[in-house]
Amino acid sequence: MFAWGCGATSKGVWSGATGVVRRSVNAIGVDVGGTKIAAGVVSREGELLNEVMHPTVNVRELVLSTIAEATIAEVKRGYEVGGVCLVVPGFILARENRVLSAANLEAIEGIPLKEELGGRTGLEVTVENDANAAAWGEFRFGAGKHVEDLILVTLGTGVGGGVISHGVLLRGARGMGGELGHITVHPAGPRCGCGNRGCLEALASGTAIARRAEKVANERPESALGRLAAERAPLGEDVLDLARKGDEVSVKVLHETGIWLGIGLATFVNIFDPEVIAVGGGVSEAGDLVLDSARGELRLRSHSPSRDLVEIREATLGTKSGILGAAALARDEDEEYVLGVSATR
Ligand SMILES: [Zn+2]
Repeated sequence: MFAWGCGATSKGVWSGATGVVRRSVNAIGVDVGGTKIAAGVVSREGELLNEVMHPTVNVRELVLSTIAEATIAEVKRGYEVGGVCLVVPGFILARENRVLSAANLEAIEGIPLKEELGGRTGLEVTVENDANAAAWGEFRFGAGKHVEDLILVTLGTGVGGGVISHGVLLRGARGMGGELGHITVHPAGPRCGCGNRGCLEALASGTAIARRAEKVANERPESALGRLAAERAPLGEDVLDLARKGDEVSVKVLHETGIWLGIGLATFVNIFDPEVIAVGGGVSEAGDLVLDSARGELRLRSHSPSRDLVEIREATLGTKSGILGAAALARDEDEEYVLGVSATR
């Protein structure tokens, strides 16, 4: 039984005839999304050496062949690769390397991916949740590079997240841990995509912003947001755009979003006492328009000194965090991380 996330790897070094030689083995990260499958060869230092992308076809055999024969085989050409990690949005049984459920990716659900893809590629293949991998990417190569305790919260169409505590990625008993977007922040709140009510995702995602914007626009038809809503349903990015132009109603929508986010962040601080909370995803582009009220709520609901010392900063890897984090989570046939646990720690 191996310990997940623990211990430095020795796989990068072996004794050759002329002494100790450092082997430069890379790993492949594959980001499987509902519309595209992107993969990259990543070096131990986190350099993206090669990248390919193919559209997703939500049919079992086509998903498997696109991942194995198109994406992995193509991106690997010419590189020495020690393992592959697939990241998928949804509920992932990481210890079984199986996707339990993934919206818009039903074709991949339930497949024993390690066996199916290992046989086709000749490589060790593992599977992780996309947000957990993104958190690991930020920890290894991005906003959390210099800390041991990091939380990543991604605010996009949904809300994802991952927790690194004392340098270990929190996965839980089945590998489903770290679903930060599905903690309840409002018991009677709006219905979430997961079926629950009042999840953080239902109140602080881009989708939640759009829903809130539509409601507020009806109440304030004379506002810039109200005038836009008379023509079409406002999107999250419309709200951000109008808020930047000074529309008070749009500013209020983002302020309220930040309050719900802050309630979630306070819970994370109280449980995990992180050094850094990195915030990523499209909504994070709103910056202080969301984060000011989030920080205020965090102060009200978490405790000193953790609340005073935690640093909330923007994630730095952007859309590449999934591929980079996945590669850094790829393991070899001995279950050791191909890229090592850390280059600096
Ligand atoms: Zn939920």
